Amino acid sequence: MGYISVAIDGPSGAGKSTVARAAAARLGYVYVDTGAMYRAIGLAVCRRGISGEDADGIAAVLPEIDIRLAYQDGAQHVLLNGEDVSDAIRTPEIAYYASKVSAVPAVRQFLLEAQRDMAKKGNILMDGRDIGTVILPDAPVKIFLTASAETRAERRYLELIGKGQQVTRESVLHDVVERDRQDMSRAVAPLKQAEDAVLLDTSKMTLDESIEAVLQIIRKKIED
Ligand code: C5P
Repeated sequence: MGYISVAIDGPSGAGKSTVARAAAARLGYVYVDTGAMYRAIGLAVCRRGISGEDADGIAAVLPEIDIRLAYQDGAQHVLLNGEDVSDAIRTPEIAYYASKVSAVPAVRQFLLEAQRDMAKKGNILMDGRDIGTVILPDAPVKIFLTASAETRAERRYLELIGKGQQVTRESVLHDVVERDRQDMSRAVAPLKQAEDAVLLDTSKMTLDESIEAVLQIIRKKIED
């Protein structure tokens, strides 16, 4: 029997990675956070002093980079040319570069192969923006995980305030709406729900309820 792939897509701030990581752990599947791969390329581009607007410059970096995901105690580590960059990619600056490089077709092609390969090696739960639509169109389980812009902004606002950052609810909501617009309107692999994906709106759910809901969808699909 082949391996099972679960594709989870959705906008940023919907709690996707936290929910996906927990669900994968409960199922014993490998969790693949594809956003981390875009972030690693963003980091490589940033370190070379290349502008986020320079699509040709970004594409020219690809032959010099090797991105691997390694797993230690179930946690995903991102290796950029052998260096563990798991923490270095989690900054607002690298989030900006990740979003820029993710709009470059050569970058998407580069990661498409790598991501499809991972799905051939074992049971995986992969999260991103285009997993159900482009990367694994035949995945037996597809979930589009979302929450209202207001809910996502409120969660993000509390997270930033918790980190001691000075932000207003209005500015955070504005950023969320703007990022949605960018993700959904870009020419290559825009964020959209696959026709055969199950829509899960977590606006009124706690984290535990969201994880349970995802597990239920997966179990039901797999048992069918
Ligand atoms: O999910 P995360 O915030 O880590 O994603 C970083 C960036 O990579 C985002 O700007 C997102 O649009 C992009 N991305 C993508 N396709 C994916 C995963 C992430 O374009 N499959």
